Parts: sequence; structure tokens; C-alpha cells
Amino acid sequence: MKERSIWERIADNLRSRSIWMLHYCTGCGAVELPPSMTSRFDMERFGIAPMATPRQADILLITGYLNTKTLRRVIYTYEQMPDPKYVVGFGSCTINGGIYFDSYATVNRLDYYIPVDVYIAGCMPRPEAILEAFNYLMEKIRKGEADGWKRYRENYEWYKQNQIRSLGEVYVHDEFHE
Ligand code: SF4
Repeated sequence: MKERSIWERIADNLRSRSIWMLHYCTGCGAVELPPSMTSRFDMERFGIAPMATPRQADILLITGYLNTKTLRRVIYTYEQMPDPKYVVGFGSCTINGGIYFDSYATVNRLDYYIPVDVYIAGCMPRPEAILEAFNYLMEKIRKGEADGWKRYRENYEWYKQNQIRSLGEVYVHDEFHE
């Protein structure tokens, strides 16, 4: 990995302590977010706060299973977020499809379509596991190792081919993609 300048290291350190998250509540894992965010586990003490729009968010949370229709919206959302940006996949469904592994309409591996920086195993992951994953992500950001957004740029053709294979040609000919 390229040596970071002092300014890049300072910026990464600050970024790791100020994370605005966009939670795309696709699956049942989302019910663990309210206890993680409120008084008992209190994510905000780590500088993690919810954000309503992709253009101001640092992290995209995919909180469970994704069907192919939803995948399209997730890709639009991810592409609207500014770099550097990070993705967290909640639960088995984002890793391998979970209990929907053989469903015709469910995406089995999220990281074929967008780069995932941290996965949280479990069905569903408890708030302790969510906070542990965020601590791990903060450490990766601080060290400059959370580089999914760079991989997306460098391997864009590979991601695009996977997206088209799942969504069909219509994906690249709609109003968002000329
Ligand atoms: S991993 Fe379990 S809790 Fe999470 S979305 Fe899938 S079925 Fe629901």
C-alpha cells in the first residue's frame, strides 16, 4: 500500500471519528439499529450519527437481504455518495443469501455488486456485534485500509458486468445511466 502523507493520516484519523451513516433498511437486521443508536448502546459516543441523504453520508448500511429490485436502488444510492465511502453488510443474507440462499429473487453476495468493507455475521447480529464491527471499521479507516471505494473505481467494469447480469440491460439504459 502507498505510504500516506501526514495530511492524509490526519484526515483519515478525523474521518474515523465522524461517521455519518445512511441505513438502507432492506431486511430484518434493521431492528437491531434502534437499540444500537439509542441510550443503551449509544453509537453517537463514537461519533456515529444517522444521515438522511446519500450525498452527505460516509457509510452505507445494508441491513439484510436484498432482492434484485432493491439492488438497483442500492447501487444508485452508493454511486451518489462522495468518496471516500464505506459499506457495511449486516447479517448472513448479505454474505451468502442466508436463509434465502436459493431464492430466485434474492442477491446472494453483496460484494459482487458493490464493495463491502465490513460484514457482520449473524442472523440477526446483536447490537454488541454491530458496535464491534463499527470499531473495526473505524480502525480500518484510521489506518487507511478501508479502501472499498477505491476498488470500486479500479474494478468498475467487473462490478458493472455483475450488476448488468443480475439486473438486465435495462439497468444501463434508464434515466440514471445514459
Ligand atoms: S440475516 Fe437473518 S435477520 Fe438478517 S436479513 Fe437475513 S434473515 Fe433477516
